[in-house]
Amino acid sequence: MNVIVVGAGIIGLSTARYLRRLGAEVTIIDPAPALGASHAAAGMIAPAAEVVWGQTPLYPLMQTSAQMYPEFAAEVASAAAADLGFTDAGTLVCAGDRADLQALRELREAQSLSGSATELITGSAARRIEPSLSPAVAGAVDIPGDRSIDPRRVSAALLSALTADSGSSLIRHEVAELLKDGGATKGVELSDGRRLAADQVILCAGSSANEIVGAPQLPIREVWGDVLRLRAPAEATPLLTRTIRGLVNGRSVYLVPRPDGEIVLGASSREDGLSGTPAGAIHRLLADGQRLVPGILDAEITDITTRARPGSPDDLPMIGRIDPGCVVSTGYFRHGILLAPFGGRLGAELTVGTATNWLPDGALESVSPHRFTTDHSTDHTNHATAHSMRRIS
Ligand SMILES: Cc1cc2nc3c(=O)[nH]c(=O)nc-3n(C[C@H](O)[C@H](O)[C@H](O)COP(=O)(O)OP(=O)(O)OC[C@H]3O[C@@H](n4cnc5c(N)ncnc54)[C@H](O)[C@@H]3O)c2cc1C
Repeated sequence: MNVIVVGAGIIGLSTARYLRRLGAEVTIIDPAPALGASHAAAGMIAPAAEVVWGQTPLYPLMQTSAQMYPEFAAEVASAAAADLGFTDAGTLVCAGDRADLQALRELREAQSLSGSATELITGSAARRIEPSLSPAVAGAVDIPGDRSIDPRRVSAALLSALTADSGSSLIRHEVAELLKDGGATKGVELSDGRRLAADQVILCAGSSANEIVGAPQLPIREVWGDVLRLRAPAEATPLLTRTIRGLVNGRSVYLVPRPDGEIVLGASSREDGLSGTPAGAIHRLLADGQRLVPGILDAEITDITTRARPGSPDDLPMIGRIDPGCVVSTGYFRHGILLAPFGGRLGAELTVGTATNWLPDGALESVSPHRFTTDHSTDHTNHATAHSMRRIS
């Protein structure tokens, strides 16, 4: 089977890797591979720390993907002979002051209900674990199992492994249109007019998926994020040994240390449509970050990146078949790095038509791109696919 993957962010690249495992011939098309939202991401693989009230259907997806991560990361690292900065050092979620501590207690309750193993500790206990924390930190939730990875290294390794593989190729160009015949996608037209035929197309174009002519108009919302990369002075390294997340005056902030000494400080969350970096967002991140870890003000800023997270109305991704020749996989919002093994494997299996019986109960329905429409008569919903898959599996 010959498959076109539109978009080479973490989702398109992970999908391409799983498609190769299923024996498909893959053509990946992207004018700027790995430079979308995946280029901004901090790389927290943090199912427990990401627990938020009201997002219950997301937990099993995050937990399943987190369990897939060690094998996924080991395979990608070995295929490209690369170090992905994968660590399992855990997370401390800190309260900037006593008012933030109350919000932290409520968050911990939600984490406990989702089955996550977390512990509420005092500010001084948190400082014994991470001596760079501010004396003002009023308490923390210790989450030992959380991991992190460097998404830029993951994308680079996936690209390198896929381009070295004779069964996959990369075209650095923009897809302008899905080519259809009788309601089924049969290939794509590039913006220079070239036409490429395929047995199947999978759309992994992140927040730009709706701009492709013939693509389904999905309810994608662009949630802009600003993020800094810092490097602490040599005498202060390592400034941190694990991810620090925190609430400062009710605002979220995080610091993700990499094994190579880089620290990612993020991230704003804006739906103002501004693609530039607002000075105020950077000011707030530095101010909130230094409330938790004062030493970051001595660090050098090495990078500032602003990108749009591809969000959906309910914060779950949209993964499913939209016509007999096309599957869509987008809407990963703030979890695309964490969900890359889950989304990559599911997108590949729906594209090729193999069984998806490894999924948690109800997952296929909760990520269906058709869940926002009232007309469920189409034959291509995940629900219909789920039944036919289970019959043949
Ligand atoms: C500041 C910030 C921090 C984040 N931190 C985390 C984190 O710690 N953990 C986590 O799990 N997630 C995090 N995320 C979310 C994560 O980055 C996204 O969910 C994920 O990158 C989405 O991946 P994607 O491949 O769908 O999209 P993208 O990475 O945006 O990739 C889409 C690709 O499609 C291409 N494309 C678009 N249109 C076309 C076209 N017409 N033709 C061909 N190609 C096209 C683009 O060039 C792009 O390369 C963060 C996001 C931001 C912004």
